[in-house]
Amino acid sequence: MITLVQGDITKMKVDAIVNAANSSLLGGGGVDGAIHRAGGPAILEECRQIRARQGGCETGEAVITTGGALPAKKVIHTVGPVWNGGQKGEPELLANCYRNSLQLAVDNGIKTIAFPNISTGIYHFPKPDAASIAIQEVQRFLANDNNLTEVLFVCFDDENYSLYKERL
Ligand code: ADP
Repeated sequence: MITLVQGDITKMKVDAIVNAANSSLLGGGGVDGAIHRAGGPAILEECRQIRARQGGCETGEAVITTGGALPAKKVIHTVGPVWNGGQKGEPELLANCYRNSLQLAVDNGIKTIAFPNISTGIYHFPKPDAASIAIQEVQRFLANDNNLTEVLFVCFDDENYSLYKERL
């Protein structure tokens, strides 16, 4: 089931929330900053360990940590593409973020997961296209998976919320 909500992803009581991280995994602004502020130092500590092991996270890939003090049990950190005109593989890389996050969730026994609107903030991916890609990837995944029970799209801004509402 897909659910659309408007609000702050750090408040969601789900098995996992997805973070729009950057490749350093060391935190940043936007939703990344909000998640680390609300979840406390345990999340950053695990990010540092992952970084020490594998040197961060590439664009389109995903890693998982504790949810720390968040209501969510886990955080899946994925790195969205920076919009660079659209000819640098940005749509495919954004699709990879959704697909790899969902697969990592299933691999970790997660049943309920919430996504922010990856790449549509500081990374400037056009919001209408990002919404279409996100919905398409989640719908495709759910058509072939019986483990996830709920996928939430958590829109922070009004523009994204109406774009998702139209499409869903
Ligand atoms: P990116 O670098 O991937 O663009 P941003 O964090 O700048 O990441 O923005 C991604 C999306 O997250 C934006 O649409 C922004 O409005 C949204 N956002 C920011 N704070 C929150 C929050 N607390 N909960 C949910 N979404 C948020």
